[in-house]
Amino acid sequence: MQNRWSESEADDCVAEFGDEWGEALAQRTYSSRLIGKEPALVLHGGGNTSVKSTFTDVFGEQRPIIYVKASGHALADIRPEGHTGLVLDALRRLRSVPELSDAAMVNELRTHFLDAGAGTPSIEALLHAFLPQRFIDHTHADAILALTNRPDGEQVVAEVFGDDVIIVEYILPGFGLAKAVADAFDKKPEAKGMVLMKHGLLTWGDTARQSYEATVGLVTRAEAWLKKSAKSVKSGKAASPDMARQRYHKLAPVLRGQLAIRTGSADAPYRRFVLQSLITSEILALLDSERGREVLLSPPLTTDHLIRTKPLPLWLDGLPLDDVDGLREQIAGAIAEYAQQYDAYYRRYAGAAAEKLPCFDAMPRIILVPGTGVICAGRDMADATIVRDIAAQTLAAKAMIAASGIYEGLEEAHLFDMEYRGLQHAKLAATAETPLQRSVALVTGACGAIGSGICRELLANGCHVAATDLSGDSLESLAAEFGQASGYEIGGRIIAVPLDVTDEPSVEAGFAQVIEAWGGIDLVVINAGLAHVSALADMETAAFRKLEQVNIEGTLHLLSAAGRHFRAQGTGGDIVLISTKNVFAPGAKFGAYSATKAAAHQLARIASLELADLDVRVNMVAPDGVFGDARHKSGLWAAVGPDRMRARGLDEQGLEEYYRDRNLLRQRITAGHVGRAVMFFATRQTPTTGATIPVDGGLPDATPR
Ligand code: ZN
Repeated sequence: MQNRWSESEADDCVAEFGDEWGEALAQRTYSSRLIGKEPALVLHGGGNTSVKSTFTDVFGEQRPIIYVKASGHALADIRPEGHTGLVLDALRRLRSVPELSDAAMVNELRTHFLDAGAGTPSIEALLHAFLPQRFIDHTHADAILALTNRPDGEQVVAEVFGDDVIIVEYILPGFGLAKAVADAFDKKPEAKGMVLMKHGLLTWGDTARQSYEATVGLVTRAEAWLKKSAKSVKSGKAASPDMARQRYHKLAPVLRGQLAIRTGSADAPYRRFVLQSLITSEILALLDSERGREVLLSPPLTTDHLIRTKPLPLWLDGLPLDDVDGLREQIAGAIAEYAQQYDAYYRRYAGAAAEKLPCFDAMPRIILVPGTGVICAGRDMADATIVRDIAAQTLAAKAMIAASGIYEGLEEAHLFDMEYRGLQHAKLAATAETPLQRSVALVTGACGAIGSGICRELLANGCHVAATDLSGDSLESLAAEFGQASGYEIGGRIIAVPLDVTDEPSVEAGFAQVIEAWGGIDLVVINAGLAHVSALADMETAAFRKLEQVNIEGTLHLLSAAGRHFRAQGTGGDIVLISTKNVFAPGAKFGAYSATKAAAHQLARIASLELADLDVRVNMVAPDGVFGDARHKSGLWAAVGPDRMRARGLDEQGLEEYYRDRNLLRQRITAGHVGRAVMFFATRQTPTTGATIPVDGGLPDATPR
């Protein structure tokens, strides 16, 4: 492992934070970042750091304190306020108490903050407080876990480090571990660090640099031993990543549908997952290797991964990928068996648990599929990405262990203690879910005024959005624009997908790209459309056909691809067609548009009849006079506006006012209004299908009937 310490960067950090926070915490901030930037040391909140210092209180008295990393802060970009200051003497006194529950421990921590508003410190805070050294670094380093997670772990650690480290057997993190660590240290204070079996590494020093370099030094020795001891593993003939990806496109929607948690509610029957895949030649070789199943179908590396990954992955092989019904049946069977085993595991240990939490959902989060790859499930893209990162690291570490011995994870009872720990879940439950957080939408014509307004509304409600349009600069800049100027957390929830609605293979490829990104689709918004101004007497057939292609055939292609996808996924779905008031009240010189949109509208109504059995709802939104904003001009008005302005002798603003004044409410219609109508259907507020919501400020002539 590379030593990344730079004296000048450390000085920069002290210059930036030293005056306000003190030199010790500034140094602590710098070396915490170095540790955080090394995925082989810490991953998604695994690992924590501390420093002891002094603080002048309101009476002018100097008091010893400790700064411990607060949960919810990532080490990689931590700032000084990411460490919470606590009164050190008060915490140290706790060592004399024989027992302390999690709740009592957290209360002791929270009542000894320097800053009442600071974040809750790590559950390993007392471990840092009980040790005497100034700087302490605690990581769950891959290479250390690769030494400890095996039946002969203690021997291997002793062989690699000799007398340089203290070995502590596995104890559930919290008060008990903090005491055990302090006792073990007292017996051997000259050690350079401490290896916590099946958990991680502790190092210390008088300076931030000393402690950091002790971590890097010990991890490097572990890596060298692993390399030296590795025997080459016989791998099977693995599929190529390209082939695996094609298999993934067939598998993902069916798997996603079967993973969705059945809620029993008629209005919101499913709690879905977003999927992420790991498909590389290394992973495919590992899955197909002789001992692949035995090595990989095993408990996680450390307990802090457990609440994300469940105690075990699901193994799926021999899948009939070309037979959707057979595939669904086989997956359903495997998941039911997994759930049964999970339930039994819960019942085995729940009786003895002190804080009895109800049984969590029994769905696997990591699915191992030889020939296809590793599939990871989370409640949204951010969550699924964390699961994927953990899975990638876990697989690599297990492979490393398998090359030099036998992998052994934690005992089931320990897994249960950690999975069903109130503290851990408080961490995850802290953020409430947004209405479409678990949903994926595909929107056509996303670059236009209405399309971008719909994307914006869906994103603001937590949805994952595939913004599709003809390929080009405006499509490419659209995703970036939302990422930069959204005002809400995007977290990988928008992708730009080139898609030509008139071309069936392009529609197929677009769907595949969204499946690749998130595993499936729940909402299809058919918005792409073309307008043309001409009296029937002057109509050129070629221009009319162009509108037929986009407005009618384009709608047909989307309805039919969506129907097939929803059938495979098996968890219902929603389709919203952006119709127009012209379907109900057509305009002169607007025949091509009004007629082709009427045909599209009728196709959508037919889809509502054909897809109802699948719980797919098809509804229409009929706006009028949406002009767009400076950035996203309405394509329709680009085509229609000049003619209408000429006919009425108005300029652009005058025309906008004309449209506003012709509706009952005298209101300007925006893309945001259309987006909210889409939201109404997407969130299934009422049991409605085949219906139209006008978004027009009230036009009696155009009221749907
Ligand atoms: Zn730990």
